[in-house]
Order: sequence, then C-alpha cells, then structure tokens
Amino acid sequence: MSSMSEKVLVVGGGIAGLASGLALARVNSQVKILERAHTFTEVGAGVQLGPNVTRILNAWGLLPAIEEVATYPANLNARSAKSGAVLAALPLLDMTRRYGAPYITIHRADLHKVLLQEVRTQGVDLQCNTCVQNLNQDSQQVRVTSSVVEAKEDKVNAIAAAATDDQTSEEIANALVIADGVWSTLRQQLLDDGLARMTGHVAYRALVLQADLPAHLRTQDVSVWMGSKVHVVQYPVRGGEWLNVVCLTEGQLQGAALQDLQGWNLSKTPRETSADLQRALSGTCAHLQALVEACGNWRLWPLCDRPPMQSATQHAKGRVALVGDAAHPMRPYLAQGAGMAIEDAAELAHQWSALPNQDVSQRFAAFAQARWQRNARVQARAIRNGEIFHATGPLQWARDVGLRTLGERLMDMPWLYAR
Ligand SMILES: Cc1cc2nc3c(=O)[nH]c(=O)nc-3n(C[C@H](O)[C@H](O)[C@H](O)COP(=O)(O)OP(=O)(O)OC[C@H]3O[C@@H](n4cnc5c(N)ncnc54)[C@H](O)[C@@H]3O)c2cc1C
Repeated sequence: MSSMSEKVLVVGGGIAGLASGLALARVNSQVKILERAHTFTEVGAGVQLGPNVTRILNAWGLLPAIEEVATYPANLNARSAKSGAVLAALPLLDMTRRYGAPYITIHRADLHKVLLQEVRTQGVDLQCNTCVQNLNQDSQQVRVTSSVVEAKEDKVNAIAAAATDDQTSEEIANALVIADGVWSTLRQQLLDDGLARMTGHVAYRALVLQADLPAHLRTQDVSVWMGSKVHVVQYPVRGGEWLNVVCLTEGQLQGAALQDLQGWNLSKTPRETSADLQRALSGTCAHLQALVEACGNWRLWPLCDRPPMQSATQHAKGRVALVGDAAHPMRPYLAQGAGMAIEDAAELAHQWSALPNQDVSQRFAAFAQARWQRNARVQARAIRNGEIFHATGPLQWARDVGLRTLGERLMDMPWLYAR
C-alpha cells in the first residue's frame, strides 16, 4: 500500500508526539494524535536547542515563528561553582556559520505552541482526554483501546486523573507511534522491559524575570556552574526577558510516590527548598549563591532515565515505533532530550516517504536502524557529562585544567551538531 493513504496514530502530544505527527503529515500520511491531558499543552521551563535541531525546524518552515519567542545566547560558559571563574567559553552566535543553523534557548511551552500550530495547519486530527491503554497489532493493522479521562485543570493533574472504564473506545490504523514519555505504558506492552530508573539526581527549576534581578546577575549567556556533586545551568528564554535557572543535585527525594514522579512538577515548601539548595551549594561562590537566592517558586524534577539503547529492536517492532522519552529517556546533561525527539520525527518521516512501497514494518525497521546508535551515544554522553559536571577531588582538578587549556575544543561537538 502507498504511504499516502495510510493512517498513523500517535500516542502522546508532548514535543515528541507533535513533532512526529507534524513530520508524518508533511509527507502526506493521515495522522491522529491521542493525548491523555484535557488540553494540548506543555509544562516545564526552558530547553536549549542546538543546530542539529534548529536545522530540522528550519526545514519544516518553523524558524520564523520560533525566532519570535526564542533567544540567541552569545556564549556557552563553563564556570567553576567554587570560584565563579569562567574556565572555558564556546561562542554560540557563530553556530549558524559553522553548522548552518542557530543555537537557541526557548521556553518549552513556546516550542510546543509553535509545533501545535503547525500540526493544526497540516490538518492533523487532535484528540485529548484520551488515555491509551492497550495496543494490539497483526500483519495488517494496529488497534489501540483508550478510556476517556475526566477533564482536569491541567496536564499535571490529568496524569493523576482516573480513566473511566465505561467509556472505552477503539482506533484502528496502519501504524502506531508511541510518544507517551518516560513512563510509557505502551512501551511495557511492546517491549516488556520494566520501568525507567531513578538516577538519584534531582533538578530544581526556576524562572525569574531578568528585570527583577540585580544588574550583575542578569545575563544573555548560557552558563554551566560546576561544583562538587552539584551543578547549576542558567540561560535566557522568552526573548531574553526571563532567566531559566536549574540546580541539579544528587540524592533521592524521600517519600515521593511514583505518581509524584510522573507529575514532573513536585514542589516543597520554600523553607525546605531553600535548605536543600543551601546545603547543595555550600562552598560555592557568592555570585551563584546570590542568583539562587534571588529565584523563588522552585519546581522539582526527580530525574529518571534508561540505560543507553542496546539495539534497533528497542525503537520499533512491526507496525509500532517508539520516539522521544518513551524510547530513550536521558539525563538532561547534554540538553538533547527534546532535540533527539525532533530528530526521531524527522527520520520517521524520511523513511516513511523514502520507502513508499514497502510495508510499514520495513519502513519502521529502517527508521530504528537509522536512529538507535545516535540516541544511544547521546544517552551515554549525557551520563558522562553528569559525572564530569559533578566531579570531586583530583577528577575535578583535572576537569578544570582540561577546560582551561583545551576550552572551546572540548565544548564544541561537531559529531552532535553537524548532521
Ligand atoms: C531538567 C530538564 C532539563 C531539560 N533540558 C533540555 C534541553 O535543554 N534540551 C532538550 O532538548 N531537552 C531537554 N530536556 C528533555 C526534554 O524536556 C524531554 O526529552 C522531552 O520533553 C520529552 O518529550 P516527550 O514528548 O518524549 O515526552 P513528554 O513531554 O513526557 O510527553 C508525553 C506525552 O504523552 C502523554 N501521555 C502519557 N501517557 C499517555 C497515554 N497512555 N495516553 C495518551 N497520552 C499519554 C502525556 O500527557 C504527555 O503529553 C530536559 C529535561 C529535564 C527534566
């Protein structure tokens, strides 16, 4: 059958689901996206997107809309959390000349909005309040069953909402793309390989208006402040008006239930948060402590991941493909989780249109083959970056000397950015 007339179901309307739906619609498949939340929306704060990702967004014609809400930071600075010194800097405004596309920072909700607008323009069918529970496939088609989710205030609460058993429905399609995130239930049915793992790292995230900060704390750069078992990442979003600040520490969250973890948006009392952050940042420089002190309303993300992908069979099986965090959840230390989801989407559409006369399972097998090693490499590199950022003792000393002497050469990543 030609790929033109085939129907594809996408489960999950996050960055991965929208990007996949959009990419497949652009190559003329009929796409329907099923989302559990009562509206298509995005939680979270900022994301960085390298030229490997903005190149794809540009090819989809989205860069002008992205430009209206993105920020173009001048430099990526690696800094010592203890002394505050800049150990090395990578110029980012130069990325377009070097890699043919810019390095940007953007609020996740703004990126989601641009994708959603384009998904609508492409005529994708969008259905929310739909919790997909089961999948079945044979050599001809895929069936999914879903329950209606009672409307809740927002996506975070929708995660906790009970699906009503008496309102189940069934959808049949030629292909299914699983994009239901790190806690994917459909992955369990397809691969039966257990839940994502706790990394033992926790991200505290805050957004602050730059105008509310003392002048010396305002910045249009990306900075990574590396301490002992802690690091802080800061960068501007929303045209530079806001500063996104993330403090990444080690330690489990006591008493957090699985449902809390899935909510991705835990909060503690301001006093508890402040005590946690002070403990984690003791011995760091005055600038960093002042920055963290100036931010309020911290949200918590216990970080979960999976070991790097082992084979193409973890990316697709028959008529079902996995994309984004459902396929390869990773630590945020290379800032590429959403980026890899967008790369997945582009590759999915590429194989879909390049092999129009092949069976869906052959197209998905080609997609899986093309993607798994890159995703595994990015996952592995993200784990290693975490070890480097959190190094202590002699390793920390060696890291700082390496950054001071090799600087830009260590920070630039042509293998990642040039595609
Ligand atoms: C602290 C932190 C910083 C980060 N920084 C960056 C960065 O700088 N750059 C970058 O590229 N990435 C970054 N990431 C990673 C990035 O945010 C994620 O990789 C990306 O958002 C994953 O998108 P997704 O669509 O795969 O999953 P999700 O965003 O989790 O979306 C899954 C969707 O599926 C829906 N869903 C779930 N189950 C069902 C079901 N049964 N039926 C229907 N719908 C369902 C959910 O409601 C949700 O909308 C960061 C992550 C963290 C935690």
